[in-house]
Amino acid sequence: MEYRRLGKSGLKVSALSFGSWLTFGKQIGAPTAEKLMAYAYENGINFFDNAEIYAQGKSEIVMGRIIKKLKWDRTSFVISSKAYFGDYRNGPNQTGLSRKHLVEACHHALKRLQVDYLDLYFCHRPDKQTPIEEVVWTMNHLIQQGKILYWGTSEWSAQEIMEAQMVAKEYRLIGPTMEQPQYNLFERAKVEVEFAQIYKTVGLGTTIWSPLASGILTDKYLRKNFPKGTRLGMDGLEWLKERTLQDDRLPKIQALNELALDLGISLPRMAIAWALRNPNVSTVILGASKLAQLKENLKALGDQDLLTPDVLEKIEAIVDNRPVPPAW
Ligand code: NDP
Repeated sequence: MEYRRLGKSGLKVSALSFGSWLTFGKQIGAPTAEKLMAYAYENGINFFDNAEIYAQGKSEIVMGRIIKKLKWDRTSFVISSKAYFGDYRNGPNQTGLSRKHLVEACHHALKRLQVDYLDLYFCHRPDKQTPIEEVVWTMNHLIQQGKILYWGTSEWSAQEIMEAQMVAKEYRLIGPTMEQPQYNLFERAKVEVEFAQIYKTVGLGTTIWSPLASGILTDKYLRKNFPKGTRLGMDGLEWLKERTLQDDRLPKIQALNELALDLGISLPRMAIAWALRNPNVSTVILGASKLAQLKENLKALGDQDLLTPDVLEKIEAIVDNRPVPPAW
């Protein structure tokens, strides 16, 4: 395993990490979740990602039980939660980033995960109805209380992140250490262009999500029949299928798949290695519904050197979506 600093912080996260969205407490049973966690940990993954909304709190319960059962040394892993969407409750103070919800969601996550502190605590989305000062003061307070160690954002704009940084500077508080954006061969603008400056100025770390765009960067949706038992076939996830499996992407996936096969690897390995090659990515969060997927995806660590400048240009020509920096 390779370990990277989380931005300018002193914390080291495994370059590949593991998350539980749509799988734990939902698509897969606890025994499969346990096999996945155990395999990930045994192979050097040290960061495990979760959120209050995942399976409406059940994902954290499943993960907490597994960690307890496997008796992992608390100093050997990094665990996260995220607040904003609420768990199974969604009343006016049971979602968002108010001091009340951030503190209560933290307490709930600690209980469900059965840990004394969260290593990383994310604001899962920006909240226009809470002043940024309230968010920064609350996160700083949770750090002072020892309930969280680092805080960050997810799907915030560069401007919103910088507002939080400015408030932290003004009051001498601890600002956000990391952002959790989507990053894959089809979603690139935030990581490659929007944040370009703030990696340098504030040393932002990134824990990127959906490296396979929810599983479409594989060969399974190229087959004639829609594959059974996959995320995009799940009831209630029609919106995700519509958003990710767009018609114009299929020929690109087909061409990417052929390129990966020419390199002697699978498309998911090539797509994950591509994300890993970005030096501003602190960790690529993997998702898996089967052990075989995780085993395959972990091989991407050793594939980074296959992505030579020539191969990268071929990838660019296929996806044809290089984000353009502003002209000024
Ligand atoms: P991916 O884009 O990598 O999708 C993972 C899914 O793709 C798996 O569950 C599986 O689904 C399929 N898959 C994975 N590997 C393979 C393979 N080798 N062959 C075929 N199919 C494969 O990542 P996620 O979307 O799961 O995101 C990863 C993590 O990021 C999440 O668990 C979560 O922790 C975090 N996240 C954060 C968000 C945020 O807003 N901050 C939003 C979304 C995710 P299946 O078998 O069912 O088809």
